[in-house]
Amino acid sequence: MAKNEVSAELRAQYEPVIGIEIHVQLNTLSKAYSADPTEYGAAPNTQTSPVSLGHPGTLPMFNEGALKAAVKLGLAVGADIREVNEFARKNYFYADLPKGYQITQDKTPICNGGFVEIKDAEGNPKRINLTRIHMEEDSGKSSHDIDPFNTLIDLNRAGVPLLEIVTEPELRSGEEAYQYLTEMRRLVRYLEISDGNMEEGSLRCDVNVSVRKVGTEKFGTRVEVKNLNSFRNVQKAIDYEVNRHIALIEEGGAVVQQTFTFDAARSKTQLLRDKEDAHDYRYFNEPDLQPVIVKEDYIESMRSQMPPLPKELFAKYREQGLSEYDASLLTDSKEIALYYEAIIEHTKNYKAAANWMMGSIKSWLNERAAHISDFPLAASSIADLIQLVDDGKVSNTVANGELFKALLEAPEKKASELAESMNLIQESNTEDLQAWVDQAIAKYPDKVAEYKSGKKGLTGLFMGEVMKLSRGKADPKLASKLVIQTLEK
Ligand code: ADP
Ligand code: MG
Repeated sequence: MAKNEVSAELRAQYEPVIGIEIHVQLNTLSKAYSADPTEYGAAPNTQTSPVSLGHPGTLPMFNEGALKAAVKLGLAVGADIREVNEFARKNYFYADLPKGYQITQDKTPICNGGFVEIKDAEGNPKRINLTRIHMEEDSGKSSHDIDPFNTLIDLNRAGVPLLEIVTEPELRSGEEAYQYLTEMRRLVRYLEISDGNMEEGSLRCDVNVSVRKVGTEKFGTRVEVKNLNSFRNVQKAIDYEVNRHIALIEEGGAVVQQTFTFDAARSKTQLLRDKEDAHDYRYFNEPDLQPVIVKEDYIESMRSQMPPLPKELFAKYREQGLSEYDASLLTDSKEIALYYEAIIEHTKNYKAAANWMMGSIKSWLNERAAHISDFPLAASSIADLIQLVDDGKVSNTVANGELFKALLEAPEKKASELAESMNLIQESNTEDLQAWVDQAIAKYPDKVAEYKSGKKGLTGLFMGEVMKLSRGKADPKLASKLVIQTLEK
């Protein structure tokens, strides 16, 4: 058996223990401790200054934008927010760290505790508790694969504000890790504190993995896997490590506390280095920054600026009678949820509003790979369409078809006026309907006889004829009632 494969039987005897550290790059306009701009994609080494480069005699200055983001995230996960926030220097030498240290928080993280909710393997809600969230700064970026001989360094990123979010070792599978990351990314996007893009490096994570025998308490020795560039790769890296640990232990070996990277091309982890210990960094208080004091009234003012959170909207939609599936799709992205919110300001038919979002609107977006902000119709127009259907004035098919299409071409028009001018209003005048029904029935005397002798399925044929005669305008519910009544006479 290959080293990373274990039988299902063996696998079931072990429990994975996983903790995740996420670094979220904040979308502040300037850096954490200097006025340098933070725009992504600028030419290398153009967004630096003596302060971010740590030249002698320069002094850092704290960016309140990072504090706002930290407090909002803390409130969103229900963490305790610290009043006296000290900064620390984490010292290490690396070419992309021009100061020789990173300004971070060590003993006094801004947030302690809090949790996010995911689903466990059985589909039941599971809380993932957070240990801490702290404020720090990013390093520069080293590129090893651009120049064949040299490592290139771009210091634009050096000093960009980050939040580090650390979980308790409570995740139990690669799948749970995937869900946790998805949930965290959704949260920072709702809060608009980060774009959460993993490809651009605005969200990075390190995972810590160990295994223990099912039923035992004591944690096994953990390894850390870094440089994971997608949530699926996080899941794969964890699965790979879990199997490697089990195989190693079963062979009589022992896991060594080490740091790995994930080789996505070969779907396996690779040893990077032995793990450094906290004391290697010789943390000490940052002497150039005053502690940041966060008072209760500041926290309250942030609380009053909080946007709706996905879990709150989810609960609200479930209460409105939407399925779990609809509610989770609607809350997947904030922009989609807000558009739905705007529709239901004008209608109480929640199910119809959800159907429009997931149906015609979503198809329109998908066909164009567009964003909801590109969608030309006002939410109130969608509510008008829903009303026309509910009033029996147009069929659902017409509303989602011809009428929707026409409205997209003339978004300023009112749906009802357009329906009228396009002659799409359904006929629910009983007299007119009865005339079409009589005509349809008169056309097929032999089919009427068959119907009378028990072939009830033939109503479809007569309905089709009524629709044809009315050129699609017959109110189908009413027409079908009349067809049956007339045939049964
Ligand atoms: P470090 O200072 O080395 O980064 P931390 O104590 O900050 O270590 O923990 C980092 C992460 O590792 C946390 O998410 C924590 O939950 C997780 N962790 C700690 N011990 C274990 C373990 N034995 N197995 C798996 N994860 C662990
Ligand atoms: Mg850590």
